[in-house]
Amino acid sequence: MIDPQTKERLRGKLEELKGQLAKELKDFKSPTDMGGSEIDALDAEADEAEEFSANAGMAISVAQRHEAVVAALGKMDKGTYGTCESCKGEIEAALLEADPESRLCKACKAKKS
Ligand SMILES: [Zn+2]
Repeated sequence: MIDPQTKERLRGKLEELKGQLAKELKDFKSPTDMGGSEIDALDAEADEAEEFSANAGMAISVAQRHEAVVAALGKMDKGTYGTCESCKGEIEAALLEADPESRLCKACKAKKS
C-alpha cells in the first residue's frame, strides 16, 4: 500500500500536472500570434502545414495525459489509486513517483510495450 503521506504528495504532483497540461491544451487551441507580416505568413505556409500536424499530434498526447491525470485524481478520491487496471495488483511506489498518473504496474507496462 502507498502510505498516506506519499499519496498526498503525489496528489499535489498530479494537481500541478493537471494545471500545467490544461494550460498547454489551451495554448494548442489558441495558437499565439507570431506577429509576422502577411508576406512572411505566405512564405511560411508550407512549413506551417507540417508544423500544424506535428502540433496536432502533440495536442492529442497532451490531451491523453491530461485525461490520465484527471482519472488518477478521481481514483484517489475513490480510494483505488495505485491499483493496476490490468492485473488489479499494486503499482510500485517508485513507478508512481516517476509517473503519478500511471494506470498499470511495472509488469503490465512491460507487457504492453
Ligand atoms: Zn498489472
